[in-house]
Amino acid sequence: MTENSEETLVDESGLNFVEQEIKADLAAGKNGGRLNTRFPPEPNGYLHIGHAKAIIMDFGAAEKFGGTCNLRFDDTNPQKEDTEYVEAIKRDIHWLGFDWGDRLYYASDYFQQLYDLAVRLIKEGKAYVDEQTSQQIAEQKGTPTTPGVASPYRDRPIEENLELFERMNRGDFEEGSMVLRAKIDMANSNMHFRDPIMYRIIKTPHWRTGDKWKVYPMYDFAHGQSDYFEGVTHSICTLEFVPHRPLYEYFVKELADESYCPRQIEFNRLNLTYTVMSKRKLLQLVKEGLVNGWDDPRMPTLCGLRRRGYTPSSIKDFVNRIGYTKYEALNHIELLEHSVREDLNKTATRVSAVVNPVKLILTNYPEGQTEEILVDNNPENLEEGKHAMPLTRELWIEREDFMECPPKKFFRLSPDKEVRLKGAYIIKCTGVKKGADGEIEEIYAEYDPETRSGLPGSDRKVKGTLHWVSAPTAVDITVRDYDRLFSVENPSAEEGDFRDLLNPDSLKVREHAKLEPWAAERAKDGDHYQFTRLGYYTVDLDSTEGNLVFNKTIGLKDTWAKEQKKAK
Ligand code: ATP
Ligand code: MG
Repeated sequence: MTENSEETLVDESGLNFVEQEIKADLAAGKNGGRLNTRFPPEPNGYLHIGHAKAIIMDFGAAEKFGGTCNLRFDDTNPQKEDTEYVEAIKRDIHWLGFDWGDRLYYASDYFQQLYDLAVRLIKEGKAYVDEQTSQQIAEQKGTPTTPGVASPYRDRPIEENLELFERMNRGDFEEGSMVLRAKIDMANSNMHFRDPIMYRIIKTPHWRTGDKWKVYPMYDFAHGQSDYFEGVTHSICTLEFVPHRPLYEYFVKELADESYCPRQIEFNRLNLTYTVMSKRKLLQLVKEGLVNGWDDPRMPTLCGLRRRGYTPSSIKDFVNRIGYTKYEALNHIELLEHSVREDLNKTATRVSAVVNPVKLILTNYPEGQTEEILVDNNPENLEEGKHAMPLTRELWIEREDFMECPPKKFFRLSPDKEVRLKGAYIIKCTGVKKGADGEIEEIYAEYDPETRSGLPGSDRKVKGTLHWVSAPTAVDITVRDYDRLFSVENPSAEEGDFRDLLNPDSLKVREHAKLEPWAAERAKDGDHYQFTRLGYYTVDLDSTEGNLVFNKTIGLKDTWAKEQKKAK
């Protein structure tokens, strides 16, 4: 099922269901009327657009109600984590337009407090060291309908547990040889209560705490307590944590009281068609060179989308449209593209470029003559003024805009037919020159000097309008065209290896595309342009002095808007 917006559980004042809960808690005076959220990324990969949905929720709700939002790195697994990811995550949150101020935290800040709490729970008979293998432990878990089997170590004397746990942390035992488990209830209908693992041994040094610790807390033992230590009031996460919530509450109760207690609220994940969102899979694509890095413009990562030309406001608009609900769904990528188009339409400068050029010669246009054609920089915002485009005898037009033997409804150029050169004259095709291989090398046409756009008597109508670039002044650029990264709508739902589902034609590089000189002079990394009739393009960071590289952000045709109209 794919879903977008409709049932988003929004109230009259536009609050989503999580914000409604927050509002109610504040009204009831919970936690002394404080609101503090947190965004808790694990630094084991780059942020993707799904994380943006969480960020917009966490930071957005705090902004809305005058609260604060912490950035907390959930760095409890030294085997997979790295500072490269920490820096990238910070950069991407700032790019989205959010700031954590002085509230930057790490779960590793709490390793001592968590350890002390574990020791306390052992002393109270609420935790024990289990020497079984992870496989044995898994086998004893039972099923939701059959109770689990107690570990033979479950009733180990407290003193022994204390000593073993201390020695686990000293490095006396091998990874995987023992774990610390909470002693809760092996028959509980919630599987997470069947003596969950609190600590495991990891001997890889931690990038922040070095080799100080040999035991590391599991998510369930770290997250709620970290929330508590930090003063977080609302711990907002995604739906897969619903079954973990009772455990979150169980551990938090060991610390909290009525005056302050964090609570967990869950919303649905963002999933996009034609892509994958799992960090493990994204890492695999990067590591195996199946894409060109985390910021490959085909990736759903925030740095990839940024490089592609997607804007923070378009991402926010998309997240706002899909909304926050309590059931999982798959979101259409076309809706995201619709948001991108809407945003770039307002801001992108209009220029002329020809990505698949063929020479057009106006045989009756004086050699050496140049006219200036004035073009609106942005018809959506006339205050942005105009710029001049040279018109000359030799021009570049799109190869696809010419057909020698056109079908009936082809309104572009063909022999003896007329079209208008955008902003300039009506021309009539008089012939072509072909190479030995039959490919068209030059197209010839005559222009009608009486038809210059904007001048009196120029209102003769023709069906087609073509964009063009003056050949002698055109600047060669490289254009990277992108298609869907995967060839199936929901790659995660397919059997087999997800890598086999990659679209082999997702990147097409066009060297020697032609750009009008005014644009070439000013274009710099990250700038957004609309190439007339083609789409939105963004200057890529691979651009050099002599060669500008553009990423095609998105074409002009709005498939989403069209579908919506049809549905009405
Ligand atoms: P993993 O795939 O390793 O579980 P993750 O994608 O959950 O990782 P985290 O770094 O744990 O990544 O995520 C940080 C926060 O972002 C969490 O609160 C998580 O719920 C949220 N988040 C992650 N993916 C999505 C998504 N697709 N939609 C909405 N929120 C998400
Ligand atoms: Mg996670």
